[in-house]
Amino acid sequence: MCAAETIIIDGSEGEGGGQILRTSMAFAAVCRVPVRIENIRGKRPRPGLARQHLTAMKAIARVTNGQMSGDELGSRRLEFVPQEIVGGHHEFRIGTAGSATLVLQTILPALLVADQKSTVVLEGGTHNQWAPPVDFLEHAFLPLLCKMGAEVRCRLIRYGFHPAGGGRLEVEITPTRVLRGFDLQERGDLCRRHSRVLISNLPGNIAEREQHRLVRKLRWKDSEVTIDPVPSSGPGNVIVVKLQFEHVTEVFTAFGRLGTSAEHVADEVVKDVTSYLGSTAPVGEYLADQLLLPLALSAAGEGSHRGGSFRTTPLSQHSKTQMDIIRRFLPVEFEVRSTDEDCTVHVRPASGSTS
Ligand code: AMP
Repeated sequence: MCAAETIIIDGSEGEGGGQILRTSMAFAAVCRVPVRIENIRGKRPRPGLARQHLTAMKAIARVTNGQMSGDELGSRRLEFVPQEIVGGHHEFRIGTAGSATLVLQTILPALLVADQKSTVVLEGGTHNQWAPPVDFLEHAFLPLLCKMGAEVRCRLIRYGFHPAGGGRLEVEITPTRVLRGFDLQERGDLCRRHSRVLISNLPGNIAEREQHRLVRKLRWKDSEVTIDPVPSSGPGNVIVVKLQFEHVTEVFTAFGRLGTSAEHVADEVVKDVTSYLGSTAPVGEYLADQLLLPLALSAAGEGSHRGGSFRTTPLSQHSKTQMDIIRRFLPVEFEVRSTDEDCTVHVRPASGSTS
């Protein structure tokens, strides 16, 4: 279903960050095609491989028995030749608070099409800014992936926050030969709304102020915002808001940090939640770029329902870059129809492709 020759990717294209690297590696593994990435994270202030990216690269090399060169800290060029995909038990330690879920993003597509079941243990950050928090993975992304026929379960064993890290995540992946596509145009009715204020090794009044602000600004009941003191290796404070609709669950987060007031952190998540609720699109910004991967795999695969569509808020640069990268590996087409308020993305087998 994939391209056959070495694919060369310029890591400074489009969004120019880590996602180009992760998506390229993920699809190189699925397609078993060699890939070379140049100008890695070319648009980031500190380009090249950081520890979290390096762990992700080593992880994809391990689960594909692949050969890799350039896999060093700070490296701006990487070559990867994947071999066969190896399911089974894998453990990866990032060694910093780098995001465990981003390492998972890199290896999940390959393990979804492996010949056997996998269990993956990831140690590092479980709730990182600019990465999917475990709550998002568990409640927003994985349920949709499971609807496609995959069976993926994740268990948070220990929380890991920046900068101490030390979190632990266990993921069980039962592969599937056929990923069924879906069409997600409407949210359906709101079934439940809830917010958790996570707090670890920090004064409790931070969480109380955030709770108070959320209740007031969102006009929710007190019982809809709970404070969750959680054990971890260092300080941590994250607000997680979950909106569960009939057909989709969206998760929004804001991260407490030094020099930013608790009220300001609460306001950040309130802004995202209000903006999502002000639109009718089921898929938010982050879910959009992440859903493109399984939908593209479905479109390039076999089965009677290949590809699909979703309605989302205006597309981020991440999503646009994601489409550009995916097209380099798989015979799929993306069609984006925009209105003033939202856009619908269709993912289909490329015309003329037979799977
Ligand atoms: P990059 O910035 O290139 O490393 O990619 C970041 C990835 O993390 C993208 O797939 C984003 O969709 C995802 N991401 C960033 N922030 C969030 C968030 N708050 N919730 C869910 N996913 C996120």
